[in-house]
Amino acid sequence: MIDLFSDTKSRPTHAMRAAMATAEVGDEAAFEDPTVTALCERVAALLGKEAALFAPSGTQCNQIALAVLGRPGEEVVCDRSAHIACFEAGGVGANAGLNLLTLDGDRGRFTATQLRAALRTPMRHAPKQTVLAVEQTSNLGGGAVWPLAQLTDVCAVAREHGMSTHMDGARLLNAAVASGVSAADQAYDFDSVWLDFSKGLGAPVGAALAGSREFIERAWVVKQRLGGAMRQAGIIAAGALYALDHHVERLADDHRRARRLADGLAGLPGLLLDPATVETNIVFFSLDRARIGFDASELSRRLAARGVRIGAFDGTTLRAVTHLDIDDAGIDMALEVMADCLRL
Ligand SMILES: *Cc1c(COP(=O)(O)O)cnc(C)c1O
Repeated sequence: MIDLFSDTKSRPTHAMRAAMATAEVGDEAAFEDPTVTALCERVAALLGKEAALFAPSGTQCNQIALAVLGRPGEEVVCDRSAHIACFEAGGVGANAGLNLLTLDGDRGRFTATQLRAALRTPMRHAPKQTVLAVEQTSNLGGGAVWPLAQLTDVCAVAREHGMSTHMDGARLLNAAVASGVSAADQAYDFDSVWLDFSKGLGAPVGAALAGSREFIERAWVVKQRLGGAMRQAGIIAAGALYALDHHVERLADDHRRARRLADGLAGLPGLLLDPATVETNIVFFSLDRARIGFDASELSRRLAARGVRIGAFDGTTLRAVTHLDIDDAGIDMALEVMADCLRL
């Protein structure tokens, strides 16, 4: 199976499993796991923050950060395509009691002008806007990268308005590799930022949230409350450390393959996409239904029957994501099968 459904589909390599099997461990919840401690120090340094904590998932990092930065009844401003708005089961409201105000950005990225226009005049009737949240890269934006200047600009507007700033950095290292701007520089203006190890980095489990020492102290209370405190978590932290050592620079290969996939798809009659919009490892494309005569889920079914998995988002849109388990031959095969399925 050529599984392009998501970069969460990669499986840990033998070398990663070996690192996990031999990891030194202890009780994570008591700060006694040396591998988790090493990972947290490593991530804090990588992101230019004072401290970090290890969590089972990226979703939990978002939930923890927003609960620390905002109070119930206050408002988070983010793009309308944001993971926190679309894919966290309403957790921002359920766990943190926060309201969401969503902006209509360009592939997940809004401007300082758009943010300024969305700011409410402070008054008793309006929710207090206390958190700005951005996603680097934007998942539903097709892996689009926020330019550093745009991050700086929206954070400056947020600060003027007295808001805290949060970066969902599930794929921040993809952005760093693609743009050449370090993760720490991109995270500089943010009070909180996290990385996911189970996406392009190829580890089986885990994410790490970073911020000031005081932020992480408060974050630990929420992590405990959400059931995120773990025991011998060094076993999974070792996979994350292995990924930071061995799987960061290779993200460029995923980006190159995504671009090649996009170029190939754009050349097929009946598929619509602009390969120039593919900056990292995510390729959104759509189907010209008038020309093809069937919809995206039917195309997805036909591809799966031939060993290629690409998810349908709606009637006309599909998403393919490159990762550790997709090599050049996999891209060739996916393009070949796609051409056949469109001809049928
Ligand atoms: C995957 C993802 C998350 C959630 O991470 P999990 O580890 O799956 O919980 C959050 N934000 C973005 C942008 C993501 O792509």
